[in-house]
Amino acid sequence: MSVPPDLAGATLTINLAALVENWRMIAGNVSPAECGATVKADGYGCGACEVASALWDAGCRTFFVALPMEGKQVRDTLPDAIIYVLDGLLAGQVDFYIAHDLRPSLVSPEDLSEWADATDGRHKAAVHIDTGINRLGFDQAQAEALAGDAELMRRAGLCLLMSHLASGDDDTNEANASQRDRFAGLRELFPDLPASLANAPGTFLGKEFAHDLVRPGVALYGGNPLTGKPNPMHRVVSLTAPVLQVRDVSPGYGVGYGATWKAERRSRIAILGVGYADGLLRAMSWPALGSGPAQVSIAGQMVPIVGRVSMDMITIDVTDLDPKHVARGTKAELLGSNIGVDDWAGWSGTLAYEILTSLGRRYAKVYSS
Ligand SMILES: *Cc1c(COP(=O)(O)O)cnc(C)c1O
Repeated sequence: MSVPPDLAGATLTINLAALVENWRMIAGNVSPAECGATVKADGYGCGACEVASALWDAGCRTFFVALPMEGKQVRDTLPDAIIYVLDGLLAGQVDFYIAHDLRPSLVSPEDLSEWADATDGRHKAAVHIDTGINRLGFDQAQAEALAGDAELMRRAGLCLLMSHLASGDDDTNEANASQRDRFAGLRELFPDLPASLANAPGTFLGKEFAHDLVRPGVALYGGNPLTGKPNPMHRVVSLTAPVLQVRDVSPGYGVGYGATWKAERRSRIAILGVGYADGLLRAMSWPALGSGPAQVSIAGQMVPIVGRVSMDMITIDVTDLDPKHVARGTKAELLGSNIGVDDWAGWSGTLAYEILTSLGRRYAKVYSS
C-alpha cells in the first residue's frame, strides 16, 4: 500500500543517490574484488526492489538476501542478477530455488547433499563454512570431508566459498585476524572456488579481507560500519513528522503514559505524529535506555523527547524554542542532516541495523535520486 503524504503521519525519504555513492565507495575500497550488496529484510527497511534496482543501474550484479521469498522479490525486479540466499536450505525448498534462479548458501552437509541430489550439478550454490562466529556453516571437519569429495562438490554446483565475521566492526578485536587466517586455510582446501568473507565492517579491515566478493549491507544504508569511529558513509534515510498539537504544561505535571517525565517549569510540549509503530523504539522514551535523551530537530534546533514513546505519538519539550517556529503542522526532523540512524541506536542502546529494520510500514515513502 502506498500512503499519500498528506494522509500519513510521517514521511520517510530514501536517498538512492547517497545509497549508490556508499556502494561506489566500498566498491572502490575493495577493488579488484567484486562488490555485491546485501538487501535482506526489505533492503534494511529501505525497500529491497528500489534499492536493488538503483544498485543494479550503478553496476552491482550480485545480491544477498536471507530468505527464499526475499530472493524471489529481487528476482522479479532484476531478471539477470545473481542472487544468493544466506539462511541455508530447508527441506522442500529446492524447487522454489530453481524456479526463481536463486543460489542457496549451503550451511551443512544435510543442505548440501539435498541440493546435490536434486540438482546434480545443473544449478549453482555457495558453501558456507564457519570460521568462528558459530552460527551457520560447516565446521572444520565437515569442510575437510567435503574438500576431499570432488564429485560431491561438482554435483552441488559449488561456485562460492563463504564465511562470516563475528566482530568486523571492531578493528582492534583479535578474532578478526583469527577468522582471516582460518579462511585463508580454507581457501587452500578449496583452491578452485571464488571466496567471500567480508560484510560491510569487514570491507574496512584491509585488502586481505576482501577476497573475490564482498557482501556489504548496513553501510550502504548509511549505518556506521566502524563502531566508535566517525561514520564514513553518506546519510540515506530521512524522516519528518508533523506537530499535531502544542500544549502548555504546568510545573509538577507529568507527560505521557506513566508520567515518566514531569515539568519542572512551565513547559511547552509539542506532540508529533510518529511512535513505536513507526520504528521509534520505546527505548527512546524519557529516560532513554541508551545514551539519551533522544532528540528531534525543529527549525535547526535539537529538542528532547520527554515522556514515553507511545504507539503513534511522541512528546517533545519545545519550551526553549521561539514559539513562532513550532505550531500545528510544523515539520520536525527525526532523521536527516542533524540526526542519523546511529544517533537513534545510541540513544536507545541498540544498533543501526535494528533501527533500520524496524522502520515502520505506514510512512509516506519517497525515493530521491
Ligand atoms: C547480514 C549479512 C551480511 C551483511 O552484513 P552487514 O554487517 O550489514 O554488512 C553479510 N553476510 C552475511 C552472512 C549476513 O548474514
